[in-house]
Amino acid sequence: MSAKIVDSFEFCKQQQQSSGQVPVAEFARLSAELASSAGELAWSIAGGRHAAGVPQLLLNVSGQIQLVCQRCLSPMAHQMVSASTLVLAKDEADADDIEARLDDESLDVIVGSTSQDLMVLVEDEALLALPLSPRHAQCPGDVPTPGAEKAESPFAVLKKLK
Ligand SMILES: [Zn+2]
Repeated sequence: MSAKIVDSFEFCKQQQQSSGQVPVAEFARLSAELASSAGELAWSIAGGRHAAGVPQLLLNVSGQIQLVCQRCLSPMAHQMVSASTLVLAKDEADADDIEARLDDESLDVIVGSTSQDLMVLVEDEALLALPLSPRHAQCPGDVPTPGAEKAESPFAVLKKLK
């Protein structure tokens, strides 16, 4: 995976934005969870400042991925659309402090870094957005039960008419 290293604090301070498209195959940890590494993820990250005065990253990841259906174990296309707000802390102690102060379940507090690989954040986001137990609405192997099929057969209908 080609890294995209930034200083996450500067990125927020200067309200920088970055976005791109990455083949799913470039994300090794994500690919390991999928039926195949076909497809691409579109991502965008915008730096800014949270109302509470701390740096934040707005992260969006979307794209079609191939999950493994937990019922029939065959591939299952899934449209991922995920967005997160990541608040940056200076270190672990600061992270605990910010978490307690903001007390907002919709935010994630991470320790910022002067050499943050944005692609790691994108992959983490995609991994966290994976459904726990994906299942087809109707699995490809599913066929109507023999009983139901008989009931619909034209011969059965004719028989009834006689
Ligand atoms: Zn299935």
